[in-house]
Amino acid sequence: MKKIGFLTSGGDSPGMNACIRAIVKSSLNSKIKPIAIYDGYKGMIENHFKEMKYDDVNNIIQLGGTIIGTARSEEFKIIDYRKKAIQNLQNANIEGLIVIGGDGTFTGATILSKEMNIPIIGVPATIDNDIYGTDNSIGFDTALNTVVEAIDKIRDTASSHHRIFFIEVMGRNSGFIALHAAIAGGAESVLIPEITGNLEHLAKEIKNKNKGKRSTIVIVAEGEEKGGAFEIMKKLKPFLVGYDLRSSVLGHIQRGGKPSALDRIISTKMGAKAVDLLSNNKTDLMVCYKNQQISTIPIIDGISKKISPMENEDMFLLEKMLTLE
Ligand code: ATP
Repeated sequence: MKKIGFLTSGGDSPGMNACIRAIVKSSLNSKIKPIAIYDGYKGMIENHFKEMKYDDVNNIIQLGGTIIGTARSEEFKIIDYRKKAIQNLQNANIEGLIVIGGDGTFTGATILSKEMNIPIIGVPATIDNDIYGTDNSIGFDTALNTVVEAIDKIRDTASSHHRIFFIEVMGRNSGFIALHAAIAGGAESVLIPEITGNLEHLAKEIKNKNKGKRSTIVIVAEGEEKGGAFEIMKKLKPFLVGYDLRSSVLGHIQRGGKPSALDRIISTKMGAKAVDLLSNNKTDLMVCYKNQQISTIPIIDGISKKISPMENEDMFLLEKMLTLE
């Protein structure tokens, strides 16, 4: 293999740059030319490619976001646009592809791989951590630390004013960030899409937890079916008369910032592994970080299998012990 292409796609996550750096350095060390494809599949359609050198990845390991940009390209889902992308890849003599992103990104790569017979490797990157087969996806650890820092800050003001705070964190269909942040931030309760419950019961629980305390924190995953933090606070008001209720939506600050040391290390290992796999003629694999080791699974499993934070028995027990019970 003489030339590989790589892209970041879907939502950005801290650590993507560390992965890009590892891909470029590992490729160059193996005498492979690394070609950056800008803005995900959009850049593949628009022929926005750049051959990367060592200098291009100097001083980027500590940067959040992605220096090669990311996008959600609806056009890539249409065969005529993918034909354009294939033509561009063929013109550039790209012989293998590394895609850094979530399950949508992997789906796009799998379809492309079949249509043009190009080897592909997926690297899981999403702060939501909702990808099957890996303990961590790139960006989860950093986002979690950002959320925990925010909880600590909100706790200061909540305790000063005897307030109950509902804090909304990211996680569209998944409670990974919410559950982990609730435990690490010492929250009194957590609402995630994976656990059902009714609001009256929650109100009772909040009252019990609030007894003798200066503050109560309830973490709400954005994908929670009963609504976001503000909506849940509004719905609970009639059950919590006399309590001072506030809500806060952490939003996009969870996506940005310097990657944690763990995210930098995982990203670097995953990027290097992806290059190694392509240069050994492997394809249709997703790189994983499992039990502190880098391994692989078929990319189709990463796309089709679902994962819940409640499958982890330790987390389940902690959640019961420290929050809901
Ligand atoms: P995140 O977890 O941050 O949402 P993701 O990779 O799952 O990341 P998506 O927006 O679902 O994000 O997918 C990224 C891109 O992958 C899409 O914008 C599209 O270009 C491509 N893609 C997704 N699904 C398909 C599909 N069925 N066919 C072709 N391309 C697809």
